[in-house]
This record gives sequence, C-alpha cells and structure tokens, in this order.
Amino acid sequence: MKHSNISIFIPHMGCPHLCSFCNQRNISGEKNIPMGEDVRKICLSAMNEITEKINTEIAFFGGSFTAIDRTYMIELLSVANEFVGEGKFKGIRISTRPDYIDDEILSILKKYGVTSIELGAQSMSDKVLEANERGHSAEDVRKASLLIKKYGFELGLQMMVGLYQSTESDDYFTMCEIIALKPDTVRIYPVVVLENTKLGELYRNGEYKLYDFDKAVEICANMLYMFEFVGIKVIRLGLHASNDVSENAIAGFYHDSFREICESRIFRMRVMSSLNERKGDFIIDVPKGSLSKAIGQKKSNVEYFRENGLNISFKENSELHGYCISIKEVN
Ligand code: SF4
Repeated sequence: MKHSNISIFIPHMGCPHLCSFCNQRNISGEKNIPMGEDVRKICLSAMNEITEKINTEIAFFGGSFTAIDRTYMIELLSVANEFVGEGKFKGIRISTRPDYIDDEILSILKKYGVTSIELGAQSMSDKVLEANERGHSAEDVRKASLLIKKYGFELGLQMMVGLYQSTESDDYFTMCEIIALKPDTVRIYPVVVLENTKLGELYRNGEYKLYDFDKAVEICANMLYMFEFVGIKVIRLGLHASNDVSENAIAGFYHDSFREICESRIFRMRVMSSLNERKGDFIIDVPKGSLSKAIGQKKSNVEYFRENGLNISFKENSELHGYCISIKEVN
C-alpha cells in the first residue's frame, strides 16, 4: 500500500543557521506559521478525506522542527498526536537538523507519537558542509542517525548533489556514507540555486560553477540505482514543483520530471553496459510500467541508441522488476 503524508509546513522557524542554498520561505511555498488550531483543522479535514489512514503520517516539513521553540513544538505535536492511533493516522513525521537530535528530544518525539525522522545531511564532507554554512559536521549526522535508529524511529536522510565546493567524488562519497548509515529512506536534491541566497551570489559572481544538466542527471541516476540496489527507498529525487521555487530559481537542476529523466538514464546505462559495444537490432524487455522510461522523454534513449548503432524496440514483461532488462538479438 502506498504511503502518504499530510504535509504541514513550518517555515525556517528556530533555525540557527542560514545555509548557502536555503531560502526557506520559497522552498516551503508557505509564509504563514501554523498554530495548534491550524494543525487540528488540517487533520480533521484529512480524517474525512483519506481512506487509507494506516499508511498516512502527519508530516511537519519545511524547517528544523526540533530547533523551534520547545513550547510551540509540543503544542504542534500534542494536537497532531490526537489524530494518531487505532482508526486514525499511522504516526507523525518530522524533518530536522542533525545537531538538534539528542536523548531528551527523542524522548519527547517518542512520547507524542512521532514515527519517522528525516535529517538534512546534505553532504558527508566537512569541507562541503562548512563551505555551505550548514553549521554541523558529518559526525553529527552519524551520531544523530545512530541515536534515531536506537530509539526505533524510521530514519530518513536527505542529501544534495552539486553543492558549492562539492566535487563529483564528494557527492559519491556522501552517497556511500549514507548507505553505510542504513537509513530507511533517502531524498536526493540536486541543487537549485535560489534568489536571495549565498549560492545565488556565488553563482552570479562566477565563484560557483554547477555541473551541466546532463552530468547532474548521470550522478543522480547512479545514486538512485545504487540506493535502490541496496534496499534503501528513494522517496524523492529533485525539488518539489512549486510556484515559489520556479519563480525564484536562477540556476540549477529544477525539472518537473527530474526523477523520470534519471530513471530513463538508468535504462540507457543498463542497455549500453549489457550490450558492451555490440551493434545491431535488438528487442529489449523492460518491467511493466517502464516502457516510457526506457524509451526516454521525446524518445531520447531510442535516438541515443540509434546514434550508437543500435536499433532497439522495447516491450513490457511483467516478470521483470526494478531496472531489470532482458535482451534478444533480432537476426
Ligand atoms: S537548516 Fe534547513 S531550514 Fe535551516 S537554513 Fe539550513 S536548510 Fe534552511
């Protein structure tokens, strides 16, 4: 059954830092601060609308939840907690910074029915964390992740691709370190440079050069494949589409179908590495529901294969799963 969230945005409140890429109000697309009564109204209306409550979490996103004023945090949690339990929603999901996790905070979260905690790791390179003014270290991410797992919460880790001063090998290093922490879920955010951020300034004065779009797709496709290969669910790839982001993005990797583009790239890479420089005509089976991904947007993969001497027709095969393919040569 599909998981869903009732998203409640807490814009930038209580956050002790201003990270190089963050223009939080734009990311959350929400400028009002919700109070307990607002949470109650949202949950009451969701109770009427959502039938599969058992797979739904009340999700506080958009800020550093555990860094906000404690009384306010408990007000939000205690109202949300009224809607958790038998016949109601599965639990509460929050996102926060790794340096605002400790035993005391986790005990409070447990008491009020929190089930999942997502940490903004962003990078596991201290050099990159510092250059982007994150205000925490990679070790903070490791310690917080272990503690969250110890308390029995579902752990989510968020990472970014293409941050200021991050090389391709730094990005892959972050992926490997995250895999080693064994989170339940991951979100991958290729950088989007927003107006009124440090990254925006660095980009405009030429100090910050981004990957080209194709390189960002290649890296994110490799990461998506690797995470899923080791059994870590990638629940987001690319920033959510919102009017605020599209109005404020001045550079970076913002595309409504970013994940699908990466999935197409995975099929392209799978075909090219399996055929290993062979040329000719082939029929390739792909999992059910993956035909358009294998073909690529505007038939980009088919075109790419043709340019490489490959005439390929795809068909669906319900026995295949994930990114598996089965190749037959046409004589
Ligand atoms: S920690 Fe999160 S909310 Fe705070 S400035 Fe950084 S990205 Fe924005």
